[in-house]
Amino acid sequence: MNLGAGDALILVDVQRDFMPGGSLTVNGADRVLAPINRCIALFSQLGLPIYASRDWHPLQHCSFQEQGGPSPSHCVAGSEGAEFALGLHLPGHAVIISKATRPMPDACSAFDGSGLASILRSARVNRLFVAGVAADHGIQQTVTDGLAEALVVVVLRDAIAQLEHRAGDLDRGVARMRWLGAGFIDSQDLVVTQTT
Ligand code: ZN
Repeated sequence: MNLGAGDALILVDVQRDFMPGGSLTVNGADRVLAPINRCIALFSQLGLPIYASRDWHPLQHCSFQEQGGPSPSHCVAGSEGAEFALGLHLPGHAVIISKATRPMPDACSAFDGSGLASILRSARVNRLFVAGVAADHGIQQTVTDGLAEALVVVVLRDAIAQLEHRAGDLDRGVARMRWLGAGFIDSQDLVVTQTT
């Protein structure tokens, strides 16, 4: 698949708390770093936009167990756990998209209350490549909202991870996103065609 004008990359929630050793670890999350870094290099080489969403929660966020939510405290704004993962080669020109910055509601999608849709429209993005964690939360919601924004959405299959509560959860999630209209590709199959 050739990359060109109109393409953009979004990295969903590649943050320390979701990596091994974090407070809300997603199994295999660190395995996405190498393919993601490969994609970052390709998009940077072509001068294509790169976005990085992050959970950026207040201390009393509604998703935290202390507030009656389902999750342990994670990605508190300004904390070490909210930083982007060690080993993620995020370039200086990447645009950071913070979400779920108020106590409630929660926001899984990178589009939710973040202004991302208008940012993409201003940048004339029409095809969005999606990678990161977790495939059953942030990725699926971001894919759904991207398709609703009439974008072509392509998920980088080797660059997503999620907790598998039951074996095959990730495959079922992939099937669902495919059914919704997302395309899938492995990061090695992205190609840079120089137009000069
Ligand atoms: Zn969160």
